[in-house]
Amino acid sequence: MTTVNAPRLHARIAALARFGALPGGGVTRSCWSPPHEEARAWLLGEIRAAGLEGWVDPAGTVFGGLGASRFSAGAPAVVTGSHIDTVPEGGILDGALGVLAGLECLHAIREAGATPRRPLVVAAWSDEEGRYGSLFGSRAFCGRLDPAAIPTMAAVDGERLVDVMARAGFDATRAPEAAAPKGAVHAYLELHIEQGPRLDEAGVPIAVVDSIVGVRRTRLIFTGQADHAGTTPMERRRDAFLAAADYALRARDHVVEHGGGRSVTNVGVVYVHPGVSNIVPGRAELVHEMRSPDAATLERMAEACEALAREIGQRRGIGVEIRPTSATTPVACSPRVQAAVTTACRELGLGCTTLYSAAGHDAQNLALLTDAGMLFIPSRGGKSHRVDETSDAVAIERGANVLLRALLDLAA
Ligand SMILES: [Zn+2]
Repeated sequence: MTTVNAPRLHARIAALARFGALPGGGVTRSCWSPPHEEARAWLLGEIRAAGLEGWVDPAGTVFGGLGASRFSAGAPAVVTGSHIDTVPEGGILDGALGVLAGLECLHAIREAGATPRRPLVVAAWSDEEGRYGSLFGSRAFCGRLDPAAIPTMAAVDGERLVDVMARAGFDATRAPEAAAPKGAVHAYLELHIEQGPRLDEAGVPIAVVDSIVGVRRTRLIFTGQADHAGTTPMERRRDAFLAAADYALRARDHVVEHGGGRSVTNVGVVYVHPGVSNIVPGRAELVHEMRSPDAATLERMAEACEALAREIGQRRGIGVEIRPTSATTPVACSPRVQAAVTTACRELGLGCTTLYSAAGHDAQNLALLTDAGMLFIPSRGGKSHRVDETSDAVAIERGANVLLRALLDLAA
């Protein structure tokens, strides 16, 4: 039975963690940044050293192929992978695990001299974390990147995608050319840490993912009147921040009450202008994010929150501008891919359960193109998007071996 080389996988995880490493642990490696570009070059080197074909598409996604040096409709490939970009002050496994486990699977299969019927490809999708555009690389690959939107794509601090891609040697306007030929992908399977506490608390080694949440992000701009914070009587103030704060609290209550128990909400970005203590805030901006595994629920919550923002603006005499910035639809994972994971667990004698993914993943784009699915391993303590995100070495090895068997099954 072909299995992964666990020490080699762990060594690669440690090696990738050095790009953008933070002094206290964890990494900051946003897509197109210098540490990310160094990591990309390192990954291509590892792919080629493993005896695989390595290439990069116009959207910046790195591929490693066994039995393929590009995508073609004539030879549909079984694809695995994840991403090597991270959130600021993120952990070393989010994304990296899926890419490096995928690479290890292909490396081990090549070494074993096995010849699957279909080509196998590992992908490191660019900008999964969406500093410039959510799930950018997989969106481009699946032909869902709007060329007209590219010049306006920018990070929350205003840094433009076209500029950072140019610095990394890419022409952003050509990113839509990354779209895969029709029929070029036979199936997609992504291994990821769960990023939540469910598996860890249940003591189950593997989860088969049956659906992935949709995520909506909306920028809300509240405009009041800047005024002297000492001399302006309280009842005459038009405080933009208080309107934004009122919105954040009430939107949270709405999602908790009407989200069906599986919806969540977050306000992680707030700007207050002019941002000094002796001026009443004249302008406040926030980015509101909502997630749900149910499309209708997500739609209803988005409509209700928009109405809520307008009502708060009216009542407080504050202007409200609502700009939807991104929206993904919840997707169901392929029964065929789920079955491949379940069978692999049974063959390896590992318990597994079924979970929905509470985080967005590239697999949700691939699901629009092909039979797509995911498997999770436990995140220790359920921690993720933080520097102490981790998983046990044995959990990683188990996940990689389940991935390997399931890939062979899908490629047979
Ligand atoms: Zn991830």
